[in-house]
Amino acid sequence: MTPEEILAVDRRHVWHPYAALPPASPPYVVESAEGVRLRLADGRELVDGMSSWWAAIHGYRHPVLDAAVTDQLGRMSHVMFGGLTHEPAVRLAQTLVELAPEGLEHVFLADSGSVSVEVALKMCLQYQRATGRPERRRLGTWRGGYHGDTFHPMSVCDPEGGMHHLWGDVLPRQVFAPVPPGGFDTPPEPAYEAALVEAVERHADELAAVIVEPVVQGAGGMRFHHPHYLRVLREVTRAHGILLVFDEIATGFGRTGAMFAAEHAGVTPDVLCVGKALTGGYLTLAAALCTPEVARGISADGVLAHGPTFMGNPLACAVANASLGLLRAGNWAGRVAEIQEGLRAGLEPLRGVPGVADVRVLGAIGVVQLDHEVDLPRATAAAVAQGVWLRPFRDLVYTMPPYVTDPADVARIVAGVEAAVKAG
Ligand code: PLP
Repeated sequence: MTPEEILAVDRRHVWHPYAALPPASPPYVVESAEGVRLRLADGRELVDGMSSWWAAIHGYRHPVLDAAVTDQLGRMSHVMFGGLTHEPAVRLAQTLVELAPEGLEHVFLADSGSVSVEVALKMCLQYQRATGRPERRRLGTWRGGYHGDTFHPMSVCDPEGGMHHLWGDVLPRQVFAPVPPGGFDTPPEPAYEAALVEAVERHADELAAVIVEPVVQGAGGMRFHHPHYLRVLREVTRAHGILLVFDEIATGFGRTGAMFAAEHAGVTPDVLCVGKALTGGYLTLAAALCTPEVARGISADGVLAHGPTFMGNPLACAVANASLGLLRAGNWAGRVAEIQEGLRAGLEPLRGVPGVADVRVLGAIGVVQLDHEVDLPRATAAAVAQGVWLRPFRDLVYTMPPYVTDPADVARIVAGVEAAVKAG
């Protein structure tokens, strides 16, 4: 098909994320991707500032990841997981347990981040029911969060500013504490800590679990917070028999400078969700890990009632094993630290640009918050003109590049962010 034909059929038939039909502005047609570059159908090459939404940490067409998929394809691309098991899934579970914070020993493989959050929440509700507290059916969180697009995850997304405010009258009514104040390095506020504890304690008898994104809230507003608040949540939830879930679907596998953001706080949750970068962005796969205590509680009462058709897909598990192998063997921490340095040096000066409300950088994440809603088509086009792929949203122009992005390409991404900020 010619690029024009692709666009014409796309416009007529294809629904894009968070879009109407037809979408407000046409998408860019991408033909191929290699290293950190996307090649558009018109021949332009863009440095990817998004890692395909946090996922492509090793870049595109990595030879090791390509080979992992091809090798696995020669054995089996998929078999059902009920009553069958296979080496790719088993190796992956073992590696995840080794990498995850100490104490998480059981792995449920899910087929997307949202589903892993569904599974995590189901684990918590089922655990409370199985251990004699069926009245504990609500979930606690803080505002500003994002946990996915299916219904239970939507109920713990930010209820006002977030993407799912339309559904307030349909979703289960959860318990919300205020957004954590400050940033990653700002000293914790005792008044906020007290409010957090109070919100949990007031509802302790009805809460099955508290779920948060540790350290970085992603699609709910790209806010960072001090790890201390995670320790506070750990203490208050443990004291009241409430389970703690960390959603590390965006932050997991090194993005914040630690393998898992939970490590900044030295805290192990009862359940951990991972996804996105798990397969290096190659295939859709996620997981919910839990402690033996959670698994024992559920299993004493019956089965965990969940089992997606594509659970444990061997191709996805094989490429996840290869991706985690690359992480373990390589200097991801050094690369992320170098990207952090490049983003800090390049983005901090944008504080002086009219319309910029805040700049924040942590690990391989750079955020420029504006004092107004971004004009998405204009901002995107301005970045593309600089040879950079970005996808701003709401009042945010942000980047989370692949870890293999070199300093010259980080500088190019910074130029793209600056252009998007000035145009948007
Ligand atoms: N949780 C967090 C923190 C996320 O960032 C996302 C996706 O952006 C999800 C859950 C949902 O994952 P998925 O889009 O794979 O369903």
